[in-house]
Amino acid sequence: VSTPLAASHRGTIGLAVALVLVALTVVALGTTGGLYSLLGTRIAGHAAPVIEDVPGPETGPECPLDARYVNEEPIGLRPDVLAAWRRLRTDAERADVRLCLNDGKRSATQQQREFDAAVEKFGTPELAAQYVLPPEKSMHVKGIAVDVQPLSSAGWVEDNGAALGWCRRYENEPWHFEYVQRYVSAGCPDLLPSANES
Ligand SMILES: [Zn+2]
Repeated sequence: VSTPLAASHRGTIGLAVALVLVALTVVALGTTGGLYSLLGTRIAGHAAPVIEDVPGPETGPECPLDARYVNEEPIGLRPDVLAAWRRLRTDAERADVRLCLNDGKRSATQQQREFDAAVEKFGTPELAAQYVLPPEKSMHVKGIAVDVQPLSSAGWVEDNGAALGWCRRYENEPWHFEYVQRYVSAGCPDLLPSANES
């Protein structure tokens, strides 16, 4: 028997079900990053990349200067950082110095994998963090850091990189450089003991 009151109740229930479905869809898309892409697509015409999700190469060709290292492609670096890396490499070549990019961009997933492997190896997250940073702390995940090898080439970057915004940051990582535009005018900050103690 359909009274007007019952029909109105059914309408309310139907609306509630629809709202729950919409909410669940939003949650599902948000969890997978789909919502971000969806919104990005609507506003900008293409999905805005989340830099932390952009992977870098897992490996690369052998560094011609030292077979212990690779020379990977600078894929996934933030665009301004990539441009700065190319300028650095060009300047180095002019000085007859070859820079091998032993490691550049990593995604949060790649960094997490390295961190998990370190936890496995060293036993606890605290010990692992002395050797590998968790994703939220790594400048490689943010796409602004490069590891330059061999060390003789890294030494050239330490002496000459600041003019282009590249600075060594840590006492215990002579190969690790970060690009920050203001370093060009401000110069490099003091070295920190390690990335963990920053
Ligand atoms: Zn590094």
